[in-house]
Amino acid sequence: MDRSLSTKALIIGGGPGGRISYMVLRTMGENKVKIVMNEEPTVICSLPYGVGRKLVPQGPEAIVVDLSKGGRLPKDMPKDVIHGVVKELDVASKKAYVEGSDGQVEISFEKLILATGAVPWIPPVSGVLREGSSPAASDGKVTWVMYGNELVEKSRLAPNVYVIRGADDARRLDEFASRAKSVVVVGSGAIGLETAEALHDRGLQVYVVEVLPHLSVALDADMASWIEKRALERGVKAYIGVSVTDVTPEGVALSDGSTIEADGMLFATGVRPNVALAKACGIKVERGIVVDSHMRTSHPDVYAVGDAVQVVDAPTGRPILPLIGTLAMRQGLVAASNIMGMPAELPPVTIWGVSSFFDLHWASIGWSEEAASKAGISVKTIVLPVRTRDEAMPLGKDGYWKVVISKEKAPGLKEGQIIGFQAVIEGDPVINLSERFLDIIAAKESVSEILRHYFAHCPSQNAVDDPYLALFFNYQKSIAG
Ligand SMILES: Cc1cc2nc3c(=O)[nH]c(=O)nc-3n(C[C@H](O)[C@H](O)[C@H](O)COP(=O)(O)OP(=O)(O)OC[C@H]3O[C@@H](n4cnc5c(N)ncnc54)[C@H](O)[C@@H]3O)c2cc1C
Repeated sequence: MDRSLSTKALIIGGGPGGRISYMVLRTMGENKVKIVMNEEPTVICSLPYGVGRKLVPQGPEAIVVDLSKGGRLPKDMPKDVIHGVVKELDVASKKAYVEGSDGQVEISFEKLILATGAVPWIPPVSGVLREGSSPAASDGKVTWVMYGNELVEKSRLAPNVYVIRGADDARRLDEFASRAKSVVVVGSGAIGLETAEALHDRGLQVYVVEVLPHLSVALDADMASWIEKRALERGVKAYIGVSVTDVTPEGVALSDGSTIEADGMLFATGVRPNVALAKACGIKVERGIVVDSHMRTSHPDVYAVGDAVQVVDAPTGRPILPLIGTLAMRQGLVAASNIMGMPAELPPVTIWGVSSFFDLHWASIGWSEEAASKAGISVKTIVLPVRTRDEAMPLGKDGYWKVVISKEKAPGLKEGQIIGFQAVIEGDPVINLSERFLDIIAAKESVSEILRHYFAHCPSQNAVDDPYLALFFNYQKSIAG
């Protein structure tokens, strides 16, 4: 061991969950805090926009967080950062062993926050990993992907295979975009679609491969058809209902026997919680690290936050993996407050996804009809047209919204309970209505309770139609007839 130190609170992981935990501990007056970071802190959500160079014209570099200049993070934070990877954790003796740019460091702690996040998941097809030895990661900046069930270092990815999770991934993809002519994006969730648009903006021919029967897993097929239409209009070619079976230096082979020639491929096929460290030291893990509403794990002095943890789904009470950055931050606030002796709780969570695809704005909050049906929840749906301004207003744009409603009383659910909301709207963000439905779903409200909500109107901002009244009447009509 090259050095040893002790601290009151140790945080493992420098993503949004870890950084906010650090900020809250410091803001509440705790000065004995250390945070282990194995990669540069970045605003992950903005990385596709950095690569696209449209919303962030300076490129990915503009969104790497400089801790010494950060407005929200304490200016002296760099003194508390240990650069490297926690290789071993002993929660009984409260010691962590780090390997990094300063050699080996032993850290004794009183309280621990695990903020180890998630790693990109790649299906275990041949050609994804490079042959022979891979370049060594420098400065302890080791990061991983989950290849099938195996956690492997990113440096093992074949030269034409890309993922997007950290600053280095975005730089690599950005450099690729500046010399490539074509790319296969595997997976059409929000990250796949945002990055497909970014690479299209950079002038590449983009092919999207999706194993499900339609693009955009968060939306149902009827709502996703708008995304598919937009892809076609912009020349993004979609291969739907097929999977990648093989990666070669020339492109990919698909399950239907066809091939796509391309200079590279981005896997945006989901993420898996990074629970290796928690599991190895005996902390309870199910789908993710198990925590209570205070973000405390099965060990009383160990907390966990962010993408690595499972939480309670508000509408159904089931355990879920939300994988949402703003939630990781909220969890950091809860964990750190509890460590500081100020009790805080995380209420049950409603999953959300909000994004846009070539100016087609979409949102999916809570359960889609397809996800509910897979989980055995019987639902009824109401789809309504929406216009973003009154008929007379030339700026008005069209779209649809859809509400997913529990059909019958079931464990954790009441009849008529609103469990999901989706919207697809041309040219106008759908964030306002989405946030309202986020609260409605979290509060387990039923359609019969929806008229307690009012809406604000102004012709230059929205249409005069009352969305809650429309939902109420259409639902009543549907159950009557
Ligand atoms: C392209 C993209 C776009 C996204 N867009 C949005 C969005 O618009 N809105 C939204 O809310 N969310 C978005 N997300 C999700 C969001 O980024 C994640 O939910 C968030 O990053 C989770 O934060 P975290 O701190 O839990 O984990 P992470 O950000 O994964 O950070 C965990 C860190 O811990 C490190 N670590 C793991 N193990 C160790 C170890 N043993 N030693 C040291 N370090 C370790 C990891 O390498 C990583 O650096 C997006 C994600 C991606 C990839």
